[in-house]
Amino acid sequence: MDKELTTDQIIDALGGTSETARLFGIAAASVSEWRKEGIPKSRLMYLKVVRPDLFVSAVPAAVPAAAAAETPSHLVSTSTSPYFPRERSMTDKLIIFDTTLRDGEQSPGASMTKDEKIRIAKQLERMRVDVIEAGFAAASEGDFDAIKTIAGLIKDSTICSLSRANDRDIARAAEALAPASRKRIHTFIATSPLHMEKKLRMTPDQVFEQAKLAVRFARKFTDDIEFSPEDGSRSDIDFLCRVIEAVIKEGATTINFADTVGYGVPELYGTMLRTLRERIPNSDKAIWSVHCHNDLGMAVANSLAGVMIGGARQVECTINGLGERAGNTALEEIVMAVRTRRDHFNLDIGIDTTQIVPASKLVSQITGFAVQPNKAVVGANAFAHASGIHQDGVLKARDTYEIMRAEDVGWSANKIVLGKLSGRNAFKQRLEQLGIALDSEAEVNAAFARFKDLADQKSDIFDEDIMALVSDEQHSHDNEYYRFVSLSQQSETGEKPRAKVVFSMGGKEVASEGTGNGPVDAVIHAIESVVESEAEFMLFSINAITGGTQAQGEVTIRLSKGGRIVNGMGADVDIMVATTKAYLSALTKLHSKTEKLNPQKSLEAAAAA
Ligand SMILES: [Zn+2]
Repeated sequence: MDKELTTDQIIDALGGTSETARLFGIAAASVSEWRKEGIPKSRLMYLKVVRPDLFVSAVPAAVPAAAAAETPSHLVSTSTSPYFPRERSMTDKLIIFDTTLRDGEQSPGASMTKDEKIRIAKQLERMRVDVIEAGFAAASEGDFDAIKTIAGLIKDSTICSLSRANDRDIARAAEALAPASRKRIHTFIATSPLHMEKKLRMTPDQVFEQAKLAVRFARKFTDDIEFSPEDGSRSDIDFLCRVIEAVIKEGATTINFADTVGYGVPELYGTMLRTLRERIPNSDKAIWSVHCHNDLGMAVANSLAGVMIGGARQVECTINGLGERAGNTALEEIVMAVRTRRDHFNLDIGIDTTQIVPASKLVSQITGFAVQPNKAVVGANAFAHASGIHQDGVLKARDTYEIMRAEDVGWSANKIVLGKLSGRNAFKQRLEQLGIALDSEAEVNAAFARFKDLADQKSDIFDEDIMALVSDEQHSHDNEYYRFVSLSQQSETGEKPRAKVVFSMGGKEVASEGTGNGPVDAVIHAIESVVESEAEFMLFSINAITGGTQAQGEVTIRLSKGGRIVNGMGADVDIMVATTKAYLSALTKLHSKTEKLNPQKSLEAAAAA
């Protein structure tokens, strides 16, 4: 029943040459060319999404009920307006699927240790995230191990592993997920012409078969299966319909429409999702999901359009929007938008929002990716109280300016929790309240000793200090190749700064000296005079962990070498000590050559079935 319109008829239906040029943002001369040469394929794909009425025979506006029932669902045309009245479904709950530990961790420099992943997973469970994508089991031994441990520890959230569409990856995911009380296998394959041809080197028919076989194989291990057509928003809609219908028939229960490269625009992305749901006969057998990237700053907007226009009921997101390039959809923004504007969205969310800020701080501390102060919800200036404005007027009539309450997302003024006289029990209890589990009594003792050292230097200890101290403690236990021992450093106006650093290198203690144009430069020259890493220095950032001049400084240093990017972190009341620790921690990460497979980048991909 497809309409066979000529190029001229299509251009005329769009309102003529100049209107068509305006629609595509190109010169009228190019449209005149199309009248001779035909419309390029990619432009036709776009038109199929935004003007499906040009390609599918239209159903008359007022269809009698009986006649409408006879029209196959995939042939019903959609309105050209993106603002459809929203459908109501039985369960209007929005599922929050967090992929901080998988897609977030893929961000160069954000890789995490197993212990760090566990701490984040526990925080996500505390926040009552519905699904935690804990990693990509086939990526490395480390990832496999982390997923398996998390699957055994987390009880309240579904645990998910990504896998490419091949038996080996799926079996590996299933093995890692075995201990989980609720598990999901998330398999994906690229469906866009570009990715199929250039990356997979597979024909559409091969991709179609591979997708079906993958879901069929995954069903052997669990009933909860998610399928993603990678680069979905740039895929041909007819092909997508064919693949998705087939995988739902095989038992996929969630269909995740991925905007892998952040190319989507809210109305178009939402409409494309809606068109898919309308054209695929068994689309109601699956929950639809959105997965957006923030390359054009529209990840949250695209996701919400996918929900409101497209009818998606799952949003994939990460804490702080962590992710490759410009990142993923930010969990905190989705959750607070849907909650604050319930009048509009009318959806339930199971998240405990008071855990949002602790989660944000934890992720930024572990990855070294600082949160910009003006970031929505979790930025230091997001609420008036956090930016230090304590005028009486604002406090009395807060809702004149604030649409959310700071305490609802977990902001609380820094509280002095412990001091110099606090004992080991109080310290241990506070660790438990913060959800920090140290593996052994020896680790608790070591952390307590460091706490005492810190309390000698700084009279008031805040939660943030304890978190920094514990991260530091866990870092130093990770068989660090380079470890900080001591630093002596002099700066004086008119003199060249000098530094003397003592550190251990593969268990052997070395002392080195250096000068530089500033103290940081001097420290790095001193270390490099021994190490000679040849790493490129990419970023140096320093943050006061809490307020006041007594605050500890937390330093992040990013280094790059041979295409690898790592972040090192260090915290101390002396910012030069923090800098030295951060630099040694970055060097250690460069030294450990654990390479990980990136699910989206390998060429052999799904072909290795
Ligand atoms: Zn992604």
